[in-house]
Amino acid sequence: MVLQFPGVRRSKEEMPAAFGVVNFRTGFVRDPSSPSNYSALVLNADYRPLSYFPLSLWTWREAIKAVYLDRVDVIYEYDRLIRSPSISLRAPSVVALRNYVRPLEATAFTRFNLFLRDEFTCQYCGSRGDLTFDHVVPRSLGGKTEWNNVVAACSTCNLRKGAKTVTEAKMALMRKPRRPTGEELRNVGRRFPPNHLHETWLDFLYWDTELES
Ligand SMILES: [Zn+2]
Repeated sequence: MVLQFPGVRRSKEEMPAAFGVVNFRTGFVRDPSSPSNYSALVLNADYRPLSYFPLSLWTWREAIKAVYLDRVDVIYEYDRLIRSPSISLRAPSVVALRNYVRPLEATAFTRFNLFLRDEFTCQYCGSRGDLTFDHVVPRSLGGKTEWNNVVAACSTCNLRKGAKTVTEAKMALMRKPRRPTGEELRNVGRRFPPNHLHETWLDFLYWDTELES
């Protein structure tokens, strides 16, 4: 038996106007490196990806489940059928939530978000390898572990700076650290796409970025 999804949307003109807030899991597929795992790009109800970094992707099982729970519309499908002894179906390659999920504005102070704010770059020398964290005002001088006082730093710079202030160490920060907004983090995240991007995802990933250049 081949399952067909009713009302597969083929054009962006048919955007749903449903707004509201639903509980939503955010444990996305981190590495869609193999096209054979049939990941589905998850869009918000406004047809923008729910998350850029990590890119919001579901496994095909999660996507199918959401379809049957009526939580998403299928925008595109993979051409190939997934076959099992009892069933064969086309996995969705792009789905859109029926209810709009408001993006988080509060940005959690996590290692990952801090690296993301600093674009995975040492804030002293600009290198991208071997990153760790540095307290701008050292902890021994009362420096707190918070957005305004912690930056990504390579281990060389971290060692060189040690328990000194930036001035004492004769170093300079590329920019003053502060708490990023959710929007700022999402914009940085868009520049770090995963290795594999299915062709049907491209319309939804970069159609709004060209305007900026
Ligand atoms: Zn460095």
